[in-house]
Amino acid sequence: MPRTTPARPIDIEAVFPELREHTSIATRLHPRPGCPGPTDSSAGGPLLWPDDEPWPVCTAPHRKSRGELLDNVRARRRILDAAWSRQEPAGPTDEERERLASLNKRSKYAPELSDDAPIPMLPVLQLFRGDVPALGFPDGKDVLQILWCPFDAHGEGNEIDVRLVWRNSTLTSTQLTEVPEIKVVGRGGYVPDACVLQPEQIIEHQTFELLPEALQESLEEWEDWDNEESPHYQYDLSVAPGWKAGGFASWHLTGPQRMVCDCGAPMQLLVTIDSKEWDNGSLSWRPVEDAETPAHGISTPTRVVVGRAGALRIFVCTIDASHPHRINEQ
Ligand SMILES: [Zn+2]
Ligand SMILES: [Zn+2]
Repeated sequence: MPRTTPARPIDIEAVFPELREHTSIATRLHPRPGCPGPTDSSAGGPLLWPDDEPWPVCTAPHRKSRGELLDNVRARRRILDAAWSRQEPAGPTDEERERLASLNKRSKYAPELSDDAPIPMLPVLQLFRGDVPALGFPDGKDVLQILWCPFDAHGEGNEIDVRLVWRNSTLTSTQLTEVPEIKVVGRGGYVPDACVLQPEQIIEHQTFELLPEALQESLEEWEDWDNEESPHYQYDLSVAPGWKAGGFASWHLTGPQRMVCDCGAPMQLLVTIDSKEWDNGSLSWRPVEDAETPAHGISTPTRVVVGRAGALRIFVCTIDASHPHRINEQ
């Protein structure tokens, strides 16, 4: 089923025509649980991967005996899905609660793994150019693949280790069938549920703090914070939440930061991986098809949790997307 962003609560460009100069095309990816194949765009699905190409690994040391068993992460989700999809009574039974508690226990699950054993990276996102035509791909490439290490803390900035692979789909003749997987992950939030995507192009407006000052002032005067029904520029009319390709980045936690490539060129937002598809405080982004669906888990289809339920944004060079990327969390 396609997903459609509702009509904006107000045509803000009619009120402030100068906003037309501050727009960008974003593609909301609308991940929803499903069974994608290696030739589909997906979140947490199988990647198109030649069987003679090494699978990426993280070699940073992590305390592998302290994580969560991948099987437990998945078992917990299956129990919760079953519990909340029941009509009456919805929610876990006593027996399910006991089982969940036993799965939540932390233990030395993989004492045989040394802390510096290489970790196979987890597939996070695969995008075929045909599904995200507004996104710039390097010459000769038509697939973008994103993988990450399922443990925290890499490098000086304690960052998530994210790998980008740009691929030419016609050069994969024999598909890798046995994808290496690690037994233990640092946090369950790094494990995306397999989701199909229903990409939808929308127009975004620049995040409030990056608009010209005069326009910021006009918007502030126009906003009516005393009226709960009245839309707000930043939350309802500017930058879409959720997983998306392209568009603008919101800087609601830190304020705007300049993202510059090592080559000196400015960087642009490539992809956003979000812990939520929309916020219940701002339903203007909830797809119309999801308005009637029971609430449990509907806005968290991938079950990915970035940091403290924030968003991971991946930026690439505006001159050459194959230059090293940078990431930022909000
Ligand atoms: Zn790692
Ligand atoms: Zn560059």
